Amino acid sequence: MLDQLSERVYLAPGGVNIGVILAPDKRAILVDTGLNDTAARKVLRWLGEMDRQVAAIVTTHGHADHFGGNAFVVKRTGAEVWAPAWDETVLRYPLFQPLVLFAGADPPDALRGGFLLADASPVDHIYDAGPLDVLGVPLEAVSLAGHSGNQMGILCDDVFFAADVVLPARVIERYKMPYLYSVRDHIQSLDRAAAVTYRVAVPGHGPKANDLSGLLASNRRVVDDVADMIVAECAEPRTPEEILTAVLLRLGAAPSDPASYYLLHPTVFAYLTYLEEQGRLVHRIEGARSLWSER
Ligand SMILES: [Zn+2]
Repeated sequence: MLDQLSERVYLAPGGVNIGVILAPDKRAILVDTGLNDTAARKVLRWLGEMDRQVAAIVTTHGHADHFGGNAFVVKRTGAEVWAPAWDETVLRYPLFQPLVLFAGADPPDALRGGFLLADASPVDHIYDAGPLDVLGVPLEAVSLAGHSGNQMGILCDDVFFAADVVLPARVIERYKMPYLYSVRDHIQSLDRAAAVTYRVAVPGHGPKANDLSGLLASNRRVVDDVADMIVAECAEPRTPEEILTAVLLRLGAAPSDPASYYLLHPTVFAYLTYLEEQGRLVHRIEGARSLWSER
């Protein structure tokens, strides 16, 4: 069922939350479309019962679980797709997601499952942070980069779709070290999200909330803890793979399949860039190894 959040804003709760915004002329906007056809199909059915036609999709970021239903919705409705600059590349060429995890190379089959590789989506409008007009509805795109290169939150009236800038407690509990593209950008985005004024916030995963501050603080703590752990592991020079293994074992979060391991492959590099910027680690190539260590 759709959960009504304001006069024209609804939530279709699920593994990935889908936002629904009513627009003039019996049309509707979706904020993300979920992992695949299944969730999107349900939302289209509910909107059909309300005599509404989806005419626009606003994608928050280029991760398969957030735009996986785009191709299906576009085929069914002809909706136009809005995607953030930079992330939009992944919608059009979804192989970029698994290839990024696999160090930029042709990824093996194990990284081509539905969670990492969605059907390609057309992109009709590329957007950046700031005010947006979608089907005559004024929206505000808030930069929440860091979880992806140019992730956006979407503010409509007093409802804030916060994408994956925060992950719910159960996800952090399970994965311990969530995926990040840029630690520096992510920290800035946590602060930016804290400064947004809203009545209801809808993270990409987990329940809606009237106040995100607890989650923002716990997500920030995870970053600081992982950063400290990496520095501690670099008392002796280590390669990125050695660091990743040491941190995952220390966290008790040893991945059991290639997708969960490789999801964290760029993440450890994101921390290395950040820690070098902070002057907490130095990097050198020695003995044909990429070595990171404390000063
Ligand atoms: Zn994501």
